[in-house]
This record gives sequence, C-alpha cells and structure tokens, in this order.
Amino acid sequence: MKYLLDIEQMKTDGVTYEKLLWLISSEYTEEEIEKIKRAYELANSLHQGQFRQSGEPYIIHPISVAYILAELHVDCDTICAGLLHDVVEDTDITVSKIEEMFGIDVSVMVDGVTKISKLNFSTKEEERLANTRKIILTLAKDIRTIMIKLADRLHNMRTLQFKSREKQRENALETMELYVPIAYMLGAYRIKTELEDLSLRYLQPEEYQELKEKMEEIEKASTPCIEEMLGKIYEILSCEDAPSEVKVRMKNICSVYKRLKRGRTLDNIHDLISFKIMVDEVDRCYLLLRPIHETYKPYNGKMKDYICNPKTNQYRSLHTTVFGPDDRLVQMQIRTFDMDKVASFGLAAYWGMHDGNEREIMQQQVREKYQFYDSLLEINHKFVDNHDFVSQVRKEILSDKVYVYGLGGKLIELPEGATPLDLAYKTDPKFGNTIDKVIVNDKEVPLDYVLHTKDRVRFLTNAISYGPNSDWVEKAQTTYAKQKILESLPVYKKN
Ligand code: MN
Repeated sequence: MKYLLDIEQMKTDGVTYEKLLWLISSEYTEEEIEKIKRAYELANSLHQGQFRQSGEPYIIHPISVAYILAELHVDCDTICAGLLHDVVEDTDITVSKIEEMFGIDVSVMVDGVTKISKLNFSTKEEERLANTRKIILTLAKDIRTIMIKLADRLHNMRTLQFKSREKQRENALETMELYVPIAYMLGAYRIKTELEDLSLRYLQPEEYQELKEKMEEIEKASTPCIEEMLGKIYEILSCEDAPSEVKVRMKNICSVYKRLKRGRTLDNIHDLISFKIMVDEVDRCYLLLRPIHETYKPYNGKMKDYICNPKTNQYRSLHTTVFGPDDRLVQMQIRTFDMDKVASFGLAAYWGMHDGNEREIMQQQVREKYQFYDSLLEINHKFVDNHDFVSQVRKEILSDKVYVYGLGGKLIELPEGATPLDLAYKTDPKFGNTIDKVIVNDKEVPLDYVLHTKDRVRFLTNAISYGPNSDWVEKAQTTYAKQKILESLPVYKKN
C-alpha cells in the first residue's frame, strides 16, 4: 500500500505566470482574472530589466508571491496587490497611480507592504524598529497586507541561498522572531512551519542537517508500522459511506528541534508521526474515536478535545495518542475538512465571501476571533517610543504562551510569566477589581503566582473588597492588566 506523506508545504520552484493563471482559473470570476492579468502586465512592464540575485528576471518574485496567496485562496484584490507589492519601492510608479488603476483597496495594500522610507531615521536600528512596529500594527489594521508580507517573506526565505552569509542570518533571525509568531497567531500553520524550518536551516545549519537526516531515517523505519495502521484506519472509515481522507504527517524539523532543546529525546516525542483523519461532519469526529480506540488502545490522559475548546488561534481538532504496532505511541488527529482548512491556512480560510467587502469582513474576524487584538491596541496606545513598543510586543505577544483554564473552563492564552491578575483583568476589568483570593488547581496561591499551561484558575471575589492595591501593578505582567489596575487606584483617579 502506498501512502502520501503530507509535507505541509507549498512550492514555488519553477512557478511561471502561466502556472499562476492556471491556478486561479477555477476559483475566480472572469472579471477578477482580467484584473489580475492587468496587475501582472503592469508589474511586468515596470520590473522590466530588473533581476534577482539568483539571476532570474525580477518578475518571478511577485508572481511567486501571488502564487502563494492564490494557494491560500485570498481575494482578487490581494492577489493584485501581491503582484504589485514591490513596484512602488523599486520603480517610478506612485501609490495614487495604482489607486487610479486598481482602486483604493489594492493601493492601500501596496502602500502597506512598501517599506518605510529610510530618510526619516538617523540610524539603521531606528529604521528597523519603526518598520517592525509598522508590520505589527498592520496585524490590527489590515490583515490582508500581513498575508502579503508573509507570502513575500516565504518566497524570500525559499530563495535565501543567493544572499550573502550575513544577510541570510539577519533574515533568518527576523523571520524566526517576527514572522513565525505572526503566522502562528493567525493559525497559518503551513506558512509557520515552513518559515521556521527555513530559518533554522540558516541559523543552525549543522544541527538542522543532522536532525533532518535522523528524522528521515525514523520515517523510513516507520513505514511498515504506518502502512499497517493506515490499512486499519481505511477499514474503519469504509464502514460508513461518507467522504473522508487520511494523511500521514511528520512533525516539522524546527518543532522537533525545540522539543529536543527542552530536554526531550527523539524516542519520547509521541507525535513525531501522526495520522490526520478528515471527515465531513463534526459528530463523525467523535464517533470515530470508539472504533479507533477499540483497534488501538488509547494512552489515557493524552486525549485532547480542541473542537469544544479550540486553541486561541482557532485550531480545532481531536487529538488522541494510541498504542500502535510494537506498542509504539502514535498520535491521531481527527477533524472535519473545514477545520483542516483553518488549521492549514489560518485566518485566510475565512476568505471567500465575494461580496466586495473582504477588508471589513476579515478585520471583523480578527477582532472577534483572535485574543491578541485588544492587547496589541493597548500596547500601541501605551508605548510611544518604538523601542519600548517593540520590546513590549515581543514580551507579550510574540513570546511563548501559557494556556490556562479560566472562567467556565475556557482556554485562555497568556504570555509566559503571566499571573492570575493578568487573567482576571483579561476576563473583565470589573471582575479583576473584586478579587479576594485565587485558587489554582484547588490550592490558594498568591496574586503574583506564575501561571503554567493547564492550570485551572478560580477566583473568589468580593464585591465590597477594597479593590486593587498599588502593588498589584507590579504583580501583573501584561500592559492591559497594569493599565486597568492603575485606572482603578484611588490616587490615579484624583490626578
Ligand atoms: Mn518582495
């Protein structure tokens, strides 16, 4: 039996304009395709005579960016902006000319992607910080521009071998620190995993290569086990006459690398290989658990329901770890096709409502679905200086996260180092002001207790409590909580 390893990657090697046209031919209306063609023709004529360091004509780059965006099924205007994303920076055309030709939406995106002019800043560092701030704020303002930036960065990382050693390291580092967390926050796993693997390849070349080879060996050695399990899974699925699909996935190199750094060994990463089972309906995900657990005994305590309690980046799936052949642990991920689309493309999966109001719809999705939105605005409001802003965003938003159970068992994401005060004020400032005691995992803890993933947090409140103390400001870690505490202090009110 043959199986297809889902490498969760999209490739742009040898992408041409013809291939792009073929890709978009079935998904976009004739009118939209005409507009995309016009954008290509303008970009092609403007970039005429320019070449990339690889020696290829420059136009290959915007075509590749548009190709990645089309694979994400973004709307027509975003593809046009992808094709035109470098023309303002690299040629003589102006943003207003683009607006005249393609409308305000395309021109705003092109303008957003275009780098900040170097003239306004005295040092390279200041310029870099201002640019970072601009990228981060674009997350809250126009998510489509961020998708273009991600596609742009992905193609640049794929072709990084043509740059100098110094440039490679610089780009890889920035990608790891800025673009990987952004892709993760938006739930765009395909982009995130490829970006981080590419970065690691340039940041730790020897370790990367060594690990890659080891994992390929493991994959080879696992083939009989994978095929045996696949056969059984297909048997189970065939009992019902409904659409389904199974994919085998090897964990990406950078994720494994990070686990190893945290003291794990290759043998005890139980989701090194996982099966992704996709079905058409939510109920069927749950129904499948029984025959699977009857065939392969579940490893109790490893069952996770991200359907009823989704990750904060909207990832939804059932996870269960079972004893496979030779008693080796194997992870199964069971989800619907729709959930899989969100898991692969993140926010971009919500695209496709063609009523000409994509920008509004997407921004509304960001506001409603993603917990980072409010924090970002708060930090922006509070930190005027670019350096302070960027370092605070790194600490709170781009940093590693802990996931705790808050009110009603809801999974809440907080930056590492957060305390119960951060959770309480994130839940509701009024609620925060009435805290009396904090109970974590059935034990009372101090207000500055550092939360860990899986902590169950309960608050005992008292409506006539004295309210926050000034020392609470230090005990909270997030800008939002600190600000709300300050506002509730009697002294602050008088000022
Ligand atoms: Mn570019």
